[in-house]
Amino acid sequence: KPNMGQLHVVFFPLMAHGHMIPALDMAKLFASRGLKTTIITTHLNAPVFSKTVERSKSLGMEMGLRVIKFPTVEAGLPEGCESADQLTSDDLLSKFIQALSMLEEQLEQVLQECRPNCLVADMFFPWATDVAAKFDIPRLVFHGTSFFALCAMESLRIHKPYKNVSSDSEPFVLPDLPHEIKLIKKQVSEFLTEEPETQFSKLSSQMSESELRSYGVVVNSFYELEPDYADHYREVLKRKAWHIGPILLCNRSAEDKAERGKKASVDEDDCLKWLDSKKPNSVLYVCFGSMATFTTSQLYEMAMGLEASEQQFIWVVRRGKEEEEEEKWLPGGFEERVKDRGWILRGWAPQVLILNHEAVGGFVTHCGWNSTLEGVCAGVPMVTWPVFGEQFYNEKLITDVLRTGVAIGSKEWNRLTSDGVKREAIENAAKQIMVGSEAAKGRARAKELKEKARQAVEEGGSSYYDLNALFEALRSYRS
Ligand code: UDP
Repeated sequence: KPNMGQLHVVFFPLMAHGHMIPALDMAKLFASRGLKTTIITTHLNAPVFSKTVERSKSLGMEMGLRVIKFPTVEAGLPEGCESADQLTSDDLLSKFIQALSMLEEQLEQVLQECRPNCLVADMFFPWATDVAAKFDIPRLVFHGTSFFALCAMESLRIHKPYKNVSSDSEPFVLPDLPHEIKLIKKQVSEFLTEEPETQFSKLSSQMSESELRSYGVVVNSFYELEPDYADHYREVLKRKAWHIGPILLCNRSAEDKAERGKKASVDEDDCLKWLDSKKPNSVLYVCFGSMATFTTSQLYEMAMGLEASEQQFIWVVRRGKEEEEEEKWLPGGFEERVKDRGWILRGWAPQVLILNHEAVGGFVTHCGWNSTLEGVCAGVPMVTWPVFGEQFYNEKLITDVLRTGVAIGSKEWNRLTSDGVKREAIENAAKQIMVGSEAAKGRARAKELKEKARQAVEEGGSSYYDLNALFEALRSYRS
């Protein structure tokens, strides 16, 4: 018998790990508060969700999965390519975006069948607002980023400050933001700066247009982290938004933390055992998310920099051995020389588990928003090394506003062949966040934020409050 008072929310995340993982957390968070939740995904991405969805019943939560077909062949993508993590060329990216636009009909079918009370659809599906409107279902947009990045993007979109500089490397200020934030043109999304209009800039304007007509925005952040930007987004930019994060904190047990998303390439116990043998705050964790890739020479510099820093480290490298038989990126004898203090983890790391181990004292991150929040929740200072997308904005939040990190000096958006950071920069930044009195101050600020994050999601906290307000809004929409 259906529970008439129960709200049903459908989640439709972009097929990319940085979007599917928080969608899974969100669905779980909503279900833990008594709502029914359904996640829509494609066949090859279903394993990201299935374990949690299966386990939800025994935990008294109502979570479901709806599997749709990804139009791989129709869009000209190679077989098996259903996730943004696999887009190793711009041509594949372009076809992937084409494939996304073909999902509209299947979404309509799902909504027609389940008639939920709300659709939380990714920013990459601008047409979802109209599909939901057909059934009078409120559509919420999920960007998977910070208030800070949302405000920065609006500033760029409205004022186009990059048009006033004479070179790609001349800094400009982002107008109308609460702090003086500077960027250079090469760090800004091509989505915004491309002229004449391309597939990407067109998608970008469709996204902003659809967002303005949607019911509102859910933000995986908490008020105390970026109060000026949460206020700016709502009051100056006049957006309807609910902040409900950090949603990863709904994963309380080690089992929860480990099972998010994708199976780790290492035995989690081995990892924890290795960390157990190290002193508190003595290990640097180095990882760049699910999509960024570096040139061979950049990886070589990274190795040399880590070695020269004399720090202990876990370095996650997404290149598998089979891909690069000779491992040219690895300096000769490197692993032997660092074997007592360094570990190269090839493949997928149990990131949240590692970050929360007391031995980990610093995080070299690409500033993807999930990684950034995971670093904040673990209370670790960061070395910021943005590679593409909103990562360059998140870097500024960490270094200029929160002051819990040191910038490596990454100057150019490059998703596939990122390069240009020297070993000395790596060595210095690593030392700066790990040792000395400045490092201690950064760590103390990071620990304060960790505490505030925990409070935000607890009963009475700001995110707990906003989540309730969202549920109330959905209930009154229905009645
Ligand atoms: N992640 C992980 N192990 C890895 C790499 C990434 O668990 O080896 C997770 C990470 O914890 C985060 C997500 O994948 O939740 C990456 O999202 P983020 O927004 O940081 O970056 P993106 O992958 O979207 O660039």
